[in-house]
Amino acid sequence: ARQFTRPLNDLANQWNTVLSAIAGAERVFEVMDEDEEMKDEIGAEKLNHVEGAVRFEQVSFGYEEKGATLQDISFSAKPGEMVALVGPTGAGKTTLIQLISRFYNPDQGQISVDGQDVTKISRESLRSHMSFVLQESFLFEGTIRENIRYGRLSATDEEVEEAAKLANAHSFITRLKKGYDQVLSADGSGISQGQKQLLAIARAMLANPAIIVLDEATSSIDTVTEIKIQEGLARLMKGRTSFVIAHRLNTIRQADKILVLKDGRLIEQGSHDELLDAEGFYSDLFHSQIKKEAMT
Ligand code: ADP
Repeated sequence: ARQFTRPLNDLANQWNTVLSAIAGAERVFEVMDEDEEMKDEIGAEKLNHVEGAVRFEQVSFGYEEKGATLQDISFSAKPGEMVALVGPTGAGKTTLIQLISRFYNPDQGQISVDGQDVTKISRESLRSHMSFVLQESFLFEGTIRENIRYGRLSATDEEVEEAAKLANAHSFITRLKKGYDQVLSADGSGISQGQKQLLAIARAMLANPAIIVLDEATSSIDTVTEIKIQEGLARLMKGRTSFVIAHRLNTIRQADKILVLKDGRLIEQGSHDELLDAEGFYSDLFHSQIKKEAMT
């Protein structure tokens, strides 16, 4: 592996971990990888107010010395835009969103948030402006209330419930025997996959970030819950810049911008209509998907 720092040996970084946990993101990163964290540069700055403009300029990155996982990626997202990432498994979608949150630094090129190079921003500050709704939801052993409050530790009970209502999680929570005081195990047994997602949405809503990163669920979720999730997500993403690893055609169609990745390269970008007109890879993907859906 490369020159990755070992935060566990580094007290200052441990403190950062605590701070980021307060910001509500760190647990996700622990899930992603515990060892390979990027150290802050000396004098790294804090971002106070964030609009949510995100820009990649000729970004390349590889996990190993040889062979780039992402090559020459350039795009920009305006504040509030929804960006869908599509492409085959292994194309680099997850890697790209990990770069946005500075889980890794690019080998070449620059990534900026609101015009500021992310390598010059402290991780803790950067991540306090981002929330993650990932497939592997990141619950911990504790009550439902505590799990949602993890998005913003200073939130009152009323604020927790308000976020749960906006996320469409309130109704299932109040049907649980102990409601918000119901204790969850770390693997969230006792609630469904879809309900875990609703909790993740509630937590993100409470954190109120400018940027959302979402890995859309691939597992089958019952239709009623799926509708609730879609509604909750729509409320969450409104007015925030969002990056969605999208699996559903509907989500992709709604995106302001679609980034089509293949073998680590950004081979096409544009709106759904623009990409259909281009009659390239996306258009082929779309038509074969329609056929597939028509057949099932
Ligand atoms: P996607 O999300 O589009 O499926 P990923 O970003 O997960 O793609 O993976 C892109 C490529 O990088 C794949 O070839 C994958 O095997 C490789 N990869 C992903 N994570 C790591 C890692 N931590 N170390 C080394 N290689 C990795």
